[in-house]
Order: sequence, then C-alpha cells, then structure tokens
Amino acid sequence: MGPAAARPVLIAGGGIGGLAAALGLAQKGIASILLEKASALGEIGAGIQLGPNAFHAFDYLGVGEAARGMAVYIDQLRLMDALTAEEITHVDLRDAFRARFGNPYAVVHRGDLHGVLLKACRDHALIDLRVSSEVIGYDQNGASVTVRLASGDDVTGSLLIGADGLWSNIRKQVVADGPPRVSGHTTYRSVIPTGEMPEDLRWNAATLWAGPKCHIVHYPLSDWKVFNLVVTCHNDAPEPVAGKPVSDDEVMQGFAHVHARAQEIIRHGKNWKAWVLCDREPLERWVDGRVALLGDAAHPMLQYFAQGACMALEDSVCLSHMLGTHPGDHAAALEQYRQQRFPRTARVQLLSRAIGEHIYHPAGDHARIRNAIMSAKTSEDYYGDLAWLYGGTGLKG
Ligand SMILES: Cc1cc2nc3c(=O)[nH]c(=O)nc-3n(C[C@H](O)[C@H](O)[C@H](O)COP(=O)(O)OP(=O)(O)OC[C@H]3O[C@@H](n4cnc5c(N)ncnc54)[C@H](O)[C@@H]3O)c2cc1C
Repeated sequence: MGPAAARPVLIAGGGIGGLAAALGLAQKGIASILLEKASALGEIGAGIQLGPNAFHAFDYLGVGEAARGMAVYIDQLRLMDALTAEEITHVDLRDAFRARFGNPYAVVHRGDLHGVLLKACRDHALIDLRVSSEVIGYDQNGASVTVRLASGDDVTGSLLIGADGLWSNIRKQVVADGPPRVSGHTTYRSVIPTGEMPEDLRWNAATLWAGPKCHIVHYPLSDWKVFNLVVTCHNDAPEPVAGKPVSDDEVMQGFAHVHARAQEIIRHGKNWKAWVLCDREPLERWVDGRVALLGDAAHPMLQYFAQGACMALEDSVCLSHMLGTHPGDHAAALEQYRQQRFPRTARVQLLSRAIGEHIYHPAGDHARIRNAIMSAKTSEDYYGDLAWLYGGTGLKG
C-alpha cells in the first residue's frame, strides 16, 4: 500500500450527494471508492425541484448540459389557498429570473437526475462504484481510515465522506446524537400520466395549495409525460416511515376540509406511498479527523424549501474545492468545508421548518396574515428575498 495521500477517498452512500461528491473529487484529480449498501444504484420514481444553485453546482461538477437536458422549465412557483382555490401569489421564473440568477429553476425526475450523475461517475476512471457494500463503522489512525462493511470486508482510504443519508451510520460515530426528530408530518407521493391530471390544472408551474395543517404540491415531469403529486398533512404521526404503500382513502383523510378543487387533485393520484418526515437540529460537528459528513447525513431537513438535494450538491462542490485547494492538508480542507457549509445549511434547515409553519400549514388569522403579506409582494421582491440562496453555490473564496 502506498502513502495515505495516494489512497482513494472513501464515500459511503450513492445517492445524489455521494455521486456528486465522487464527481467533484474526480474533477480535482482525486480518486474515490463509492460504497452503496443497495444492490443497485438508483432513486425513487418521483420528482424533485432544483433551484439555480443546483445548476451552478452541476456546471462546477461538469454535468450542467446533461442536467439541463432532462429538466422541465416551469414558468412559476405558484401559491394557492387550499380553502378558497384562489391564487395567493406567484414567483415568475422566466427571463427576468434567469437573468438575475444566471440559471433556471426546474423540475426533474429523480431517476433522470440520478442517471446523469451516475453516467458521469461510470465514465470517470478515477471513480470506483461498489454496490451491496453497507458501511457499518470506521476506524482511523494518523495516516488513513478503514471502513467495516456488513459483509465483514474492510476498505481503507485516505478520507471518508459520510453521504449515507438520514439514517447515516457514519453520523452515528461522528456525532452520536441519536435518531432524527420525527416531525409528525406525513407526505404521500404519486406520479400520474399527464392525461389523468385535471385538464384545467395542467399548469407549467410548481404549484402549492396551502391549507390548515396540510398542503398539496404538483408539477409536470419528464417532458410533460407525467405529473408529480406530493401531498402532506400534519397528522402527528409518531414513527418514521419511508415509502410505505397506502390506500387512497388514507391519503384523503387529512384533506376533508380543503376546497373540492384541491381534493380533486388527490383523487387522481394512485399507488400512493407514504413518508413520515424527519429532520434534525443544526449541529456543527461534521468532522472527526479524516471523516466528514455530507448531504442529509450532515443536515437533514424538511422538504419545504425544496433544497435538501441542492444543499448536498453544494456540499460536494465545496468539499472538492477545499480538498483541491489544500492538497496534503486534509485537516485544513475539512475544517474549511465545515465552516463554510454549516451556517448556510443550518439556515436552510431552520427556514424549512418555518416555511411549513408560516406559509404551508397556517389556519385562521395566521393564514389571513400570510395571504396579506405574500399577495403584496412582486416577483422582484421574491428575487431579492432569495438572492442569498440562488445567487451561487454558497462557495466563498
Ligand atoms: C418528499 C420529499 C421531497 C423532496 N423534495 C426535494 C426537492 O424538491 N428539492 C431538493 O433539493 N430536495 C428535496 N428533497 C430532499 C432530498 O431528497 C434529499 O435531501 C437528498 O436526496 C439527500 O441526498 P443524500 O445523497 O444526502 O442522501 P440519500 O438520497 O438518502 O442517499 C443516501 C444513500 O446512501 C445509501 N446508504 C445508506 N446507509 C448506507 C450505509 N451504511 N452504507 C452505504 N450506503 C448507505 C442509501 O441507500 C442511499 O443510496 C425532498 C425530500 C423528500 C422526503
């Protein structure tokens, strides 16, 4: 075995964050071994929204054109009142938005996005992708880090990136802060052919219907072949759930009080699957010697800002930038990565909760105040509010 500096970086997890990290490292000439616990690399069949900051990251990672090629470019973020079926406000995402932020806002199929990253990783000689490789823990000394796999095998590298998601085994060892917080919010997802979406709601928008303790999101995907439906209710669900098939009746239970037009959207869904959402308090401990956390393993958040994957992509840009800037000094690189990423991701984690409380789920006077404040804003006002987030990848220096 050569010196530690020549060893590859180990990456636990082959989701959007892990693949992006492998690509970012390869751009800097750093080899990696990506260890994914599943027997195949893939993503669930649902949609994802991507802000311009995700596209800035794709450009940095060398997959900007491929990512743009499979996106649907929506014209608006549209907020509807789920009790009255009237529009509260919208953000125009067309030319003025793109000119302001230098990249579009788009929606993509998760499988397509994962596929773009996966193809770029497979095409790169510096990236070694290994499936059926669950990482259960690590040991390190002054020169290297060794992971233990569930199979009993060991793999040694120069560094370890924990990109193993919400239930991260790497986080368990780095932070040891117990299981994530169960939010009590249940999200149901369905993807339907565009022909089955009510015709008068086939808007080229990411549309959100906000109601008391519930909301509904829909947008077109995959060249308008399908519509993504995501409906959420705050039903105090006590246990984490991920991808459990549920009946149509169960989904409708949390929406008996919303406008018939909003209910109709849910009636068109089928093969619903449920997730009980979890997040964590922001916590600064992301690094342990040669080990660093990335993506949901570092900063799991509710999806209400539609930024979890965008933050994982930005993490990958920052981490590879720091490792490229400090060759041979992993301690400085990982510390600067942590210092840059923590405040920005913590802000998004906390705002994601606040958006749920003050925009998506309020009732009565609280909802009327939301409507008054948000309907008074112009798209330009919203651009100003979002400039800190969409204006770049958050990378300083
Ligand atoms: C309903 C919903 C809607 C969302 N919408 C958006 C959106 O519109 N925009 C957005 O930006 N984000 C969104 N998000 C958030 C986004 O999905 C996540 O933040 C993002 O997928 C995190 O990526 P990751 O790579 O960090 O983790 P994950 O995607 O969880 O990937 C972790 C990978 O690690 C593997 N793994 C786990 N444990 C181990 C182990 N011990 N060893 C090896 N491999 C392991 C897993 O199999 C998986 O492949 C949404 C989330 C939800 C729940």
